[in-house]
This record gives sequence, structure tokens and C-alpha cells, in this order.
Amino acid sequence: METNSFDAIVIGSGISGGWAAKELCEQGLKTLVLERGRDVKHLEDYPTVNVHPWQLKHRGNMPKKFVDANPVMSKCYGVKEDTAHFFIEDDDHPYVQKKPFDWIRAYQIGGRSIVWGRACQRWSDYEFKAPAKYGYGIEWPIGYEDIAPWYSHVEKFIGVCGNRDGIDAMPDGEFLPPFDFNCVEDYMRDKINEHYKERHLVQGRWAHLSEPQEIHLQQGRGRCQCRNLCMRGCPFGGYFSSVTSTLPWANKTGNLTIRPFSVVHSIIYDEKTGKAKGVKVIDTNSKEEMVFEARIVFVNASALNTNLILLNSKSTRFPNGLGNDNGLLGKYICFHIYRGNTSGRIGGFEDKYFYGRNPTEPILANFRNLYKQEMDFVGGYTIFTGASRSRNTDVPIDEPQLGVEFKHKISEPGNWNIHMYMQGETIPKESNQVYLSYDKTDQWGIPLLVTDVDYDENDDKMVADFLQESKEMLEKIGCTDITTNDTNQAPGLDIHEMGGVRMGVNPEDSLLNGFNQMHACKNVFVTDGACMTSTGNQSPSILYMALTARAVTYAVNQFKKGIL
Ligand SMILES: Cc1cc2nc3c(=O)[nH]c(=O)nc-3n(C[C@H](O)[C@H](O)[C@H](O)COP(=O)(O)OP(=O)(O)OC[C@H]3O[C@@H](n4cnc5c(N)ncnc54)[C@H](O)[C@@H]3O)c2cc1C
Repeated sequence: METNSFDAIVIGSGISGGWAAKELCEQGLKTLVLERGRDVKHLEDYPTVNVHPWQLKHRGNMPKKFVDANPVMSKCYGVKEDTAHFFIEDDDHPYVQKKPFDWIRAYQIGGRSIVWGRACQRWSDYEFKAPAKYGYGIEWPIGYEDIAPWYSHVEKFIGVCGNRDGIDAMPDGEFLPPFDFNCVEDYMRDKINEHYKERHLVQGRWAHLSEPQEIHLQQGRGRCQCRNLCMRGCPFGGYFSSVTSTLPWANKTGNLTIRPFSVVHSIIYDEKTGKAKGVKVIDTNSKEEMVFEARIVFVNASALNTNLILLNSKSTRFPNGLGNDNGLLGKYICFHIYRGNTSGRIGGFEDKYFYGRNPTEPILANFRNLYKQEMDFVGGYTIFTGASRSRNTDVPIDEPQLGVEFKHKISEPGNWNIHMYMQGETIPKESNQVYLSYDKTDQWGIPLLVTDVDYDENDDKMVADFLQESKEMLEKIGCTDITTNDTNQAPGLDIHEMGGVRMGVNPEDSLLNGFNQMHACKNVFVTDGACMTSTGNQSPSILYMALTARAVTYAVNQFKKGIL
């Protein structure tokens, strides 16, 4: 018979859930991980891992029929013929959008950790402090000094490559050696240094094993082979995902039970104890309802699904969702702005080439509103950038695009190009929210989530500033044929959705305390993107991992003292 009682339950097995499982199991708690999607095992379940482009029916592209049937999912750059099986099709779990919001989902053991981009910069203290200091958000209950040791803890285990650059906007960590800049990237860095005192172009920090350490070998992972086919799943475990790293590690302790095909409907609140007593689950195959009990619940279903579960966890004490005494659950949803991109052509390097592939990108660290509020918008932006040499596609339009001569031309290297794109901070706003649909449910009878999220004037000003500044930087580097582009894409496609269950100092304007613990239901912890008080401008997932490890250690301490 299946046992239904555990010390801890983790909802979701993605980036943050994998970390919750690892830490809870290592610290001795019998832990159940509930995952709505199917099982994905490292090596066994990467069906396209060694497939060549010519073996893919549409050479890697998604057919038009698929794109037409999946207008939201298909917008994600990661969704290709060799990776689409790791994403959720639009109709599998329909969208209800008050305003357009491109929510990209991956429901399986490992969640989006299998297909993520792997950028792993630390937040600076400026990002924690700026929202309250400049009046566009509430105070974070923690600062950089509280989370720094936990960043180190995570970096050492997952393996993050990068340089120690000593930049205020992007603190250093426990890095493996970085990948190399190519000759044009070296040149770009020098030109930026020459023209701008406070702008730093550095190696990105990326979750790749450039030089595996003993701890990585113990995970069964090896050196990144620069195949740049990461999103298919890596047979070498060269990048971090839950299925290569945290989940097998948790499993080795003997304390882990994983249950795929188990969609959590809600968290059950016990009116007598004033705590959560477990979760209600629907088996997605049999449609059977079941209850699992535990003394601690970690909610790691990814930001929006975590909001959904909590909003759907109604009781006499919490008629509007678990912990929702102040009515703010589902509000202050925020995201990163990815609308702006710029590119240009650079001459003078025609006799140079680069060899091999680089799975990482250089970063130009945030330089806006860093030390003081100086722009007509609040917040900052990180710029991802890089230079590459394309094939020679400069065949004049009036010449035939076929034949022997054309083939010869495209076998020659073409121009060197530089690209830049932004990752910008947004203002958490009460009006940006998610709530349960009152009349639409999914195939298991759970209400669908309505997304009601939009850009504002601050976002438009930031995009305009990025376009102007990036164009100017490309000009100073010496580029020609510069193009700037505001994609005007809907929010969400950044895939960094955050908020709705934010951390804070005061229970009147937040749902979680400084240890990600629900103010009003102490044995429930939220450590995925839903907990974010503001967005900062750095890629967020490594912060979710660090917050999770910190919160688990706190929870286990309380558990062992008998408080939880
Ligand atoms: C193409 C792409 C590129 C990205 N690049 C980066 C990057 O470079 N850097 C970065 O920091 N971030 C990046 N991200 C974002 C990153 O993937 C997410 O921030 C991260 O995965 C969030 O972790 P999570 O644990 O909250 O959620 P997920 O990893 O999404 O995992 C959530 C899990 O919960 C499960 N679940 C959901 N609802 C339920 C339920 N009701 N019951 C049971 N289980 C449930 C899901 O099936 C899923 O497995 C990228 C994402 C994508 C798709």
C-alpha cells in the first residue's frame, strides 16, 4: 500500500523543487515530491540527444500546423523540433488571458530546468535595496549579506563558470573557469572600457561544468562538451538540471519518494492546529483524488502555478486562498523586460575566426540607476551580448540562391556581427495580477488561472533607453548597419515570471517572511519565483535555489525543535 504520510512534501520538481528535495532529504526528512508531469530520467528520456539536423523531419523547425495550433508556446525560442516534447502545448492546459501574457510551461520531472538558458548571475545588494529606497516597491526582508553564503552553497554544487570581475552590479561567486571571449568580444570589451568608465563587459556566469570538481563527479556529471544542444538534455550532465543533479542526489539518501502524474489541487488547512496538514492530489492518469500528509509543505510549482495552488486552497479560515489575510495573494506579479535588441556588423576581423562552440554569452552588467536614481525611469537592465561570424550569405539578391557557386559562397565565413539584448527590471504593481477563473477549469476540474498583467510607462522608457544606449555603444565599437528593434512582445516571454506571494517585513503587505515562511500558516514555505518582492535585473533562478536551500535549513531546524 502506498504510504501517504511524510515529514515534508515538495510540490514541483523543477529548479527550486529539486533543491528543496535535495536539502530536505540530506537533512534527514522523509520527503515526497509531487509532480504533475511525466517522469523524465537522465539519459533515458532525452529522445533527440544524438539526432542530427538532417534526421529531423523539418530540419529543427516547428511545422506551420503546430505553430498555428500553439500560438503562445511557439513564441519561445527554446521550442524547436528537437525540444518541443519538453514543453506544454497551449491546449493541454488552456490560457485565460485578460491581457496577453506568454506563459511558457514545462510539466515533467525536472520542470523547466531541462530547457532553461542557464544564466546564473548573483543579485547585488543594490537590487535588494533599490525598490524601497526609490519608492517603487516594498522592503525586502533580506539583503545580499543574508543570501551570499547560500549562493556559494548552490554555485559549488551546480557548477557555475565565470570570472571574478569585482563588479558592484554583479557580485562574484564560487566560479569554475569561464569560457573564452572570441577576438571581437575582446575588442568590444576594450572599446567599452575606453569609452565608458562604469560599464563592464564580462564573461557571463553560466551553470556549465567547464572544469568539473569532485562534487560534480559524485553526481555522475562530466565536463561540458560545448555541443550547444543543451535543451535536448545533456548526456554528459554538462549543465545543471534537476534530473542530472539535485533529484538523483536526494534519491541517494533513501529519503526521497517522487510521484509523477500527480497534480496538486490544493493545500489542506487544519483549522484545529492552524497549520497545513497535507495536500490534495489528483492522479492525472486515473483521475483518482488522494491526500498526502506532512508536517512541512514546500510550494515550488513555478511562480504562477504556485499562485494557482494557493488561491485554490480555500478553507473557513482562508476563504480567499491560503495565507491570504491581506487580499494580496496573486497580486504584484512582475517579470523581466526582454523587448529590446540591437545588432550591427563589424569590419576588420575578416582574417580571424573562432573554433568550437560557446554555450555561454558575455554580459554587460547593469549601469543604470545603480548608485543613485538618475534616469526618468526606475530600475536597471542587464545586457546579454556577443559576437559571431555567420556564413557568407551576402549573395546579391539578383544572383540565384542555388547551384554550385552559391554553395561555395555559403561555405565561406561571412560577416562578423555583434548582438545585444536587454533583461530589464519591472515595477511590482498591485494591478498586475493573476486570479482563478470563475467558470473555466482544466481537464482535472481545477480552475484555470487568469493572467492580467501588462507593461507600463516605466517599461517603455527603459526599452527606449536601452535601444539608444546599445546603438551608441555599437557605434563606438565601430559597427555599421546597426539595427534596433522593440519587439513589443507580450510580457511573459522572458520566462522569468515572479511575485504574487511576495516576501516582506510586514504581514500587512506581504505573504511570506524573511525565511519564505507563510506569515499566516507557518509550515508552508514558498521558494520559487512567486516569493519575489521585486525582480532585480539578474536572471532569477539561482536566487530561487539559494532561497530554497536557506529556507529548508530554517524549516528543518524548526522541525527538529518540534516547532513545526
Ligand atoms: C527557454 C528558457 C530559458 C530560460 N533561461 C533562464 C536563464 O538563463 N536563467 C534563469 O535564471 N532562468 C531561466 N529560465 C527560467 C527558469 O527555467 C525558471 O525560472 C525556473 O525553472 C523556475 O524554477 P521553478 O522551480 O520555480 O519552476 P519550474 O522549473 O518550472 O518547475 C515547476 C514544476 O512544478 C510542476 N507543477 C506545476 N504545477 C503543479 C501542480 N499543481 N502539482 C504538481 N506539480 C506542479 C511543473 O510540472 C514543474 O515540473 C528559462 C526558462 C526557459 C523555458
